Amino acid sequence: MKKPGPIAIIGAGISGLSCAQALHAAGVDVRLYERGPTVGGRCATRLWQGHLVDYGVQYFTATTSDFKRELLNRLRQFRPIISPVLDDTGTTFPSPSGPRFYVLQGNNYFAHVLSRGLDIRLNTAAKTISFLSSGLNCLGETYRAVISSMPGPQTARLFDLARSPVDYEPCIVAFLEYAGVGVGLARENYARTWAGGQHNIIASFCENHKVGRIVGQKTVFVVQASPAFSREYEGVPPETYLSILGRENEELWRIPSGLLTAGSVHRWVFGRPQDGPRHPIDLPAGAFYCGDSRTDSTVENVWLDGVNVAREVLNHLANTSS
Ligand SMILES: Cc1cc2nc3c(=O)[nH]c(=O)nc-3n(C[C@H](O)[C@H](O)[C@H](O)COP(=O)(O)OP(=O)(O)OC[C@H]3O[C@@H](n4cnc5c(N)ncnc54)[C@H](O)[C@@H]3O)c2cc1C
Repeated sequence: MKKPGPIAIIGAGISGLSCAQALHAAGVDVRLYERGPTVGGRCATRLWQGHLVDYGVQYFTATTSDFKRELLNRLRQFRPIISPVLDDTGTTFPSPSGPRFYVLQGNNYFAHVLSRGLDIRLNTAAKTISFLSSGLNCLGETYRAVISSMPGPQTARLFDLARSPVDYEPCIVAFLEYAGVGVGLARENYARTWAGGQHNIIASFCENHKVGRIVGQKTVFVVQASPAFSREYEGVPPETYLSILGRENEELWRIPSGLLTAGSVHRWVFGRPQDGPRHPIDLPAGAFYCGDSRTDSTVENVWLDGVNVAREVLNHLANTSS
């Protein structure tokens, strides 16, 4: 049978990878371009101070049968996080979407598993697309369709759209290492969250609650700063604000002062979409997009969205085949 395609996907985060796998399984010739040196996007893990630390996706849920099946088929090494998450008032709140899961090797490992068998060009940024009568030109190649799996503002730039489907908030993430195991309230609790903007921190996660992640007698937190704080400290050297986040984290988790042994930061330029409805956008023929500028910003939802967009692309190929 003649292969329909080829198709390009820009971005190898979870949505781009799930879209690519669905197209690949349908026999479509698909190529991914990824700007970074590795796959996963905001589903990111790094080795820091000898610890394995998730600094984008902290945990994921599996509420739909399709996503559960995908996890069971591709990834056996995921585990539930048993310890509770406390809200603003210090009360335990259960996840409304069922158990919170993590991957033993780091959450980014899910992206590596999803990338198997795919044609991926790493360290290759796609900046613009030219729409020609012969197809869509991307990085010198002609494609029958191009799918952006990047955050909305980057998708808008790629396809030269008048607006992004949604604006994004930046997110500063701090890594904080303390001497001792289970410092303060972290012995019993996995995470604390604060909605409503009364703190500079919106969530703080203790990585010790993921088995085998933290080495030595240490406790490690991954701290997410609020959108307001992340905007205020844009372009400012991390040394200026790391101590602010460190002090607040100690206060909120009731950690005695003087135990901090190391700190570092990462800044997500496009952290999460702003709350509120998405704007409808007009895409040129052959252009598609997937990910959290179309759906809720969770791993499960962007994975499902990648599969949905693959179906739209297959329809497009069927309707435009000569
Ligand atoms: C701090 C933080 C914590 C989060 N915590 C959770 C959580 O606990 N649970 C949860 O379910 N979700 C969480 N999320 C949300 C989740 O990370 C996202 O919804 C999801 O990872 C988005 O996946 P994606 O594939 O749509 O986009 P991305 O992961 O952003 O993938 C887009 C990819 O495009 C690449 N790219 C960008 N520009 C170009 C270019 N010009 N050319 C080629 N490639 C390009 C990027 O490098 C990236 O790899 C969190 C997000 C953040 C920021």
